[in-house]
Amino acid sequence: MNTKEAKEIIAKFTIGYPVAKETLEKAYDVAKMDNKYFGLLKKELGLSDDVTRCEIFRERVDELSEMIHEKMKDEATELWNHLLSCLDCRKLYWGIGKWEEEKKDIKKLKAPIVLQMNKFGQIQDVGIGPPEKEFKFVAGAAAVAMYDIHTMDINADKPWEWELEDEEFGCTINLKIEKSDAENYQFICWLSCTEDSPIKNSELLVEARKIEESGAKYIVFRGPVGQLQKVPGRLGLGFYIIQIIAEWLSKKSSNHVWEISLELK
Ligand SMILES: [Zn+2]
Repeated sequence: MNTKEAKEIIAKFTIGYPVAKETLEKAYDVAKMDNKYFGLLKKELGLSDDVTRCEIFRERVDELSEMIHEKMKDEATELWNHLLSCLDCRKLYWGIGKWEEEKKDIKKLKAPIVLQMNKFGQIQDVGIGPPEKEFKFVAGAAAVAMYDIHTMDINADKPWEWELEDEEFGCTINLKIEKSDAENYQFICWLSCTEDSPIKNSELLVEARKIEESGAKYIVFRGPVGQLQKVPGRLGLGFYIIQIIAEWLSKKSSNHVWEISLELK
């Protein structure tokens, strides 16, 4: 069965012709390969656009996970936008893997964390970054409404927290970001490692660099991070690269770095 035949069978079924169940199922599978047609069909049948996007996303999630964040935004803009509001797809995307390794010994969080303070001084997640530790937002089209709900939520000033695990190194990078004042965020970072983590006996540092529009970079803070020892820093609005650096005490040359992009608006 080719796509044209499949579409004819579906069209017949839609207007009331009897079609055998097996034939219809086959036609469905063949027609589904044509994303555009399938999206239109669902729309015509009154199925929500979001359902279609979730399906398309699920089909492409492996490929999209391999793509660097900027490329995904350019080449799969609609699905990138879908991730902004769909928690299910976002969990799926981050469930596949959190880190990408462009260079040896540097693991980069695969998309930046983007936060914005609204006019009520509450922090909103406006990017496609990893889902928060406790999910603060709801999936689907309610994404915009939920922030309105949040303005009425007495816990709306609760900090945002992430647990970014790295199974290979048996450790979790904990991040906590909350409001400091209208133009500043409080940033807290600590690590928790398992008993047999290879970085257990290394020196751990956290470093935040601010990236100016001109491309200039400068260190905003740098300090040691012990396990469970919290390192606070105050960050103004802007774009940052946060690095958590593990330096082996025996040979300083072999570091391991986790890199997180953070945009504060
Ligand atoms: Zn979705």
